[in-house]
Amino acid sequence: MSEHLLLTSYLKTLRLPTMLREWAAVARQCAEKDASYDLFLQQLAELEVQNRQAQSVARRIKQAAFPVVKELADFDFAAVPKLNKKRVLDLAQGAFIEQRANVVLNGAPGVGKTHVAIGLGREACRRGRKVRFFTAAGLVNAYVEAREQRQITRLENHIRRNDLIIIDELGYIPLDRVGAEHLFSFFSQCYEQTGLIVTTNLPFAEWPQIFAGDERLAGALLDRLTHHVYILDITGDSYRLKASLKRRKREGGEAAA
Ligand code: ADP
Ligand code: MG
Repeated sequence: MSEHLLLTSYLKTLRLPTMLREWAAVARQCAEKDASYDLFLQQLAELEVQNRQAQSVARRIKQAAFPVVKELADFDFAAVPKLNKKRVLDLAQGAFIEQRANVVLNGAPGVGKTHVAIGLGREACRRGRKVRFFTAAGLVNAYVEAREQRQITRLENHIRRNDLIIIDELGYIPLDRVGAEHLFSFFSQCYEQTGLIVTTNLPFAEWPQIFAGDERLAGALLDRLTHHVYILDITGDSYRLKASLKRRKREGGEAAA
């Protein structure tokens, strides 16, 4: 008994909570199978490592602040035949993040841009990357608040600590002059420092209208953004709309039957 107390105390001191929780069960299994001491220790260490990895993935996913759970595995690529599935799955491997390159997902509302962006982001978390999700409006707000508190440097340091940043819904809301300048500052910070995924409903030619009509600012920003870029055009009908039409048809059919 005192042996167990000592073991418990050692495992706590070493911060090995999974080993602490599992050693008795694993010891019993190993004794039953007449397994070696080597195997016993290996299995126990393996459980500790697996648990830590799972926890750090969960922590990264939490820190990324995704608004909803979306996985690439649940994305129906057949619904958007023009989107190159292989390219998306290649991007999910994360080489673009190492290259500090950018991905632009372009398409009309409801075609699955946010879904793909979050799916890529979650995969990056699983591969050990630090990820942060913002809507364009949310990011501008973060800048405005940081400026009021004279903490822009702090915000930008925080931003730069990420490996991948997702900016969702760029172009949905036109920015005022101040917002445009904040976003410009953001893109300058990220240039060749962090990977970016941007989703937008507007083709590049129309980006000046997002940035308070400032062609020079939009041009300079696009110059940085598109220096190392993978562009994914998602064209198709709104998945949301299609799903609700299908549902309505089914419900209508049932009502008629
Ligand atoms: P967008 O960001 O382009 O407006 P979303 O990614 O928000 O579109 O997609 C709208 C909804 O439809 C979401 O719930 C999303 O999961 C779903 N969706 C869109 N396209 C697909 C698809 N090809 N397969 C599965 N679900 C999809
Ligand atoms: Mg969206």
